[in-house]
Amino acid sequence: MNPLITSIAVLRDNLATARGQGNAIGFVPTMGSLHAGHGRLMERARAECETIVVSIFVNPLQFGPKEDFRSYPRNLTADLTFCEERGADFVFAPLNEEMYPDDFRTFVEVQGVSEHMCGPFRPGHFRGVATVVLKLLNIVQPDRAYFGEKDAQQMRMIEKMVSDLSLPVTVVPVPTVREADGLALSSRNRYLDEAERQAAPLLYRALSEAAARAEKGVTADEVREAGMAILQTEPRLRVEYFDVVDDRDMRPVQHVDGAIRIAAAVWLGSTRLIDNLSVKGGQ
Ligand code: AMP
Repeated sequence: MNPLITSIAVLRDNLATARGQGNAIGFVPTMGSLHAGHGRLMERARAECETIVVSIFVNPLQFGPKEDFRSYPRNLTADLTFCEERGADFVFAPLNEEMYPDDFRTFVEVQGVSEHMCGPFRPGHFRGVATVVLKLLNIVQPDRAYFGEKDAQQMRMIEKMVSDLSLPVTVVPVPTVREADGLALSSRNRYLDEAERQAAPLLYRALSEAAARAEKGVTADEVREAGMAILQTEPRLRVEYFDVVDDRDMRPVQHVDGAIRIAAAVWLGSTRLIDNLSVKGGQ
């Protein structure tokens, strides 16, 4: 069976049938250009739910005017095969018009958690993400929805939205899938040229070094300095932020005691990479 569905109404009809059979519905929202990180989310959903829905939608609302919406990699044919191989029952890939008719006027904002880290550098991004995810959750009405820790701030924002708006879904966090050299898998990694690709694992190394320092219970400044010292060894790399935040509300902390997350965004040429590690914190 071809799992591709582009219409909200058709997807709903199919899911009503699955639900009627007593199936738990697992949902994996993506922007396509699928890789093993997305694959891990699908495998987890497959293990926990009877009916799996993957959405593929490059959401224009979450891209700034100078960002890579137009050039974002798209390959629906390969993505469909990828989803089928991992046992997806439905792949929902709507056109923009299906998601955002001309008279679309409703937006969702989750305060606090979206205000630091990527927030100031990508104005409107998290509002775009929250809006599309709420809409997708309303369309699919899954029992469980899967999100990667790779985008920890996004994941925490969705958890907060689900809690604040009493949405009847369980958010399942999935650990980051990495290349052998530590680079977190990302659809944007394909933008990197050879030299940039070689430099890219430094981001993970810097986060790991900072995390090792944090385990010793030092100040956030010391943690940041440990990471920055590594990133500054690579002239190709420009740091956008390197933050030590509380792992629940994603707000900067001064002292490392309790669950924290160390998160960074860097530029390599015209490619922006993000990554993060969670740390329990020294006592
Ligand atoms: P995207 O297509 O980039 O919007 O990502 C769709 C989902 O896959 C999000 O929940 C991401 O956090 C997750 N994801 C992306 N890359 C990875 C990765 N390397 N490991 C685990 N999850 C990932």
